[in-house]
Amino acid sequence: MGRIRTIFFILSAASLAACGRSPDQSAAASTETPVAETVKTSSPTFAAVDAARLSKAADDLDNWLSYGRTYAEQRYSPLDQINDENIDELGLAWAVELDTNRGQEATPIIVDGVMYVSTAWSKVMALDAATGEVLWKFDPENIGAKAAHACCDVVNRGVAVWNGKVYVGTIDGRLIALDAATGSKVWEAVTVDQEKPYTITMAPRAVKGKIIIGNSGAEMGVRGYVSAYDAETGDLVWRFYTVPGNPADGPDGAASDKALADLALPTWHGEWWTLGGGGTVWDSVVYDEEFDQLLVGVGNGAPWNHEYRSDGKGDNLFLSSILALDPDTGAYKWHYQANPGETWDYTNTQQITLADLEIDGETRKVLMQAPKNGFFYVIDRQNGKLISAEAYVYQNWAARIDLDTGRPIEKPNARYIDGPQMVLPGGIGGHAWHPMSYNPGTGLVYIPAMTVPLVYERNDGYEIHYGRWNTGVTFTDPPETPELTGDLAARRAQMRAMQKGYLIAWDPVAQAPRWTVERDWPWNGGTLATGGNLVFQGLPNGEFEARAADDGKLLWSFQSHRGIIAGPATYRVDGEQYVAVLGGYGGGPGMATPDANNKYIPPNGVIMAFKLNGEETLPIYEPVSRPAPAPSSETFTDAQVATGQEKYITFCMICHNGPTNPELDRTPYMRDAEAWRAIIIDGALEDNGMASFRDYMNAHEAEAIRAYVNTLARALAEKESNPE
Ligand code: CA
Repeated sequence: MGRIRTIFFILSAASLAACGRSPDQSAAASTETPVAETVKTSSPTFAAVDAARLSKAADDLDNWLSYGRTYAEQRYSPLDQINDENIDELGLAWAVELDTNRGQEATPIIVDGVMYVSTAWSKVMALDAATGEVLWKFDPENIGAKAAHACCDVVNRGVAVWNGKVYVGTIDGRLIALDAATGSKVWEAVTVDQEKPYTITMAPRAVKGKIIIGNSGAEMGVRGYVSAYDAETGDLVWRFYTVPGNPADGPDGAASDKALADLALPTWHGEWWTLGGGGTVWDSVVYDEEFDQLLVGVGNGAPWNHEYRSDGKGDNLFLSSILALDPDTGAYKWHYQANPGETWDYTNTQQITLADLEIDGETRKVLMQAPKNGFFYVIDRQNGKLISAEAYVYQNWAARIDLDTGRPIEKPNARYIDGPQMVLPGGIGGHAWHPMSYNPGTGLVYIPAMTVPLVYERNDGYEIHYGRWNTGVTFTDPPETPELTGDLAARRAQMRAMQKGYLIAWDPVAQAPRWTVERDWPWNGGTLATGGNLVFQGLPNGEFEARAADDGKLLWSFQSHRGIIAGPATYRVDGEQYVAVLGGYGGGPGMATPDANNKYIPPNGVIMAFKLNGEETLPIYEPVSRPAPAPSSETFTDAQVATGQEKYITFCMICHNGPTNPELDRTPYMRDAEAWRAIIIDGALEDNGMASFRDYMNAHEAEAIRAYVNTLARALAEKESNPE
């Protein structure tokens, strides 16, 4: 039991995963969906966004036209009607309850008084940005079982808009164009092999008449790529694979062929293609207008463990890299790889922000990134040359980043080859997808950062389970190290104490923090910087905060009763400034860890907009307790329980350990052998997101899991009836 609890904790720490959807609570958005006829016009009334308008987005104070507000993705708005002097008067202007308590990660887009936003399960809504009136809703009707392929919840980070259309990527791998006026579908493209464990959670980007979209799935085992589709027709224009395929299959006939053959292939060994190699492009894609290039963040390897992926040899390009591509053709321009031979789930998919920085008396055109590995990188975006890199959170895997070679100097056993190693940051990263913001006035980057350690050990019994988690790593008990001392219980406690969140105001020129706010929970919301000397951030405890941008002082806070992880946006309608954010806890930790208040079932998500003198209130929050554990009185054999435990660790707990999905030690199905089998083997709840596991186990093994879950429930019932 102790070991299992430890594994729970460590998985929690890694914030691994996601699967089945909890039964959706009441669909409660404020109005029904009027579906009007699609009207084709040459200049659209809704989402009238084109290249010229996106180019000037920084000066367009009323609107938030793309994921990070402008192509530079600074998430900074000069709006200062709401500011550090009148923030006391900020109140709720409107709120719309969403249809599920799954994670809400989207940043809304606002065009001419209309808000376009995606929600969990890749649904899309259009709302009146001043009143919250719902104009239309769209449900892509996903393949429910694809939820089991989503490492980190059925989240969606946002839409793109272009020429009267709204674009969304779906959890089952489609790219869909909607009429911005009506929400009706204009075209749909299947962007992945849906038999494979690909998903999409990222916001598409609209660039030069094309819609750019990547995908997720490297934890399960896929080959990553990024694609460009014609915005009007949905035809594929180009595709760039980030890692080589099986050489026996020959070139892909894709934009990446030459770069893969010349640069990447020589850096791979073994039979990496068996699991695809990874390298998914699952979040950050930025258009750099000045150099007419797309900057693409590339993710971790599949499996994580470099020894299993590539015989422990080679840099494995273009994993953990930033790629610069020609937006018209997808042709390679340059790359920078942060982690050669990636082996920790260190991705470079984190937000890429463009800026002009004054460095040593010279104006440098840079990109800035705080990837998972804990270092803040400032890179010359003309050529990909590293300018500087310093740790923005505590890290223990590298001595430093060599500025001449751009490569890290790794510390002994960072690669856990000589035994288990506690590594910081762990796989969840020092910073994940949560948006950061950059205020050119203060010169500071506001990073939602965290320290969550993970103990890595080579999984000696590693076997591939196609379509399920494949890391080649065992998440094990903390070993004794200079950082962890005492007996096992003491070391576990020390590891738990390391789990913190931070809001860091980082000076990218000095490469040092200006101020830092410590949080007692790691998984905090994205940030927004405004001209009112403000930084906005939501928290998993439901608070939505505003702090002074220059010194970090807390100025204002609003309790929303559900964890906030998304990035906020700000905009203006009829001269009035609004700040909007989605509430709804989830993502990886929503699957894998207890939430900040683990007594209650998380309520449905909500979209909230605030303005000065806003006087709305949220619906009264009535906490709903989690079901009490109610185990069966049946007798199970020790052998059953042991088999069940092994299967449970391999297949179940990655998705069923946190607040977002049903907690198996509280499910009533544990008392019903027939229902249990129907769900696990026959897929009775597939439409809800709980896939059948018939490809991974037989009915006896499924029953063994039920035996084990009953032992968990008995222990939990005992604990809850004897609270400490
Ligand atoms: Ca990953």
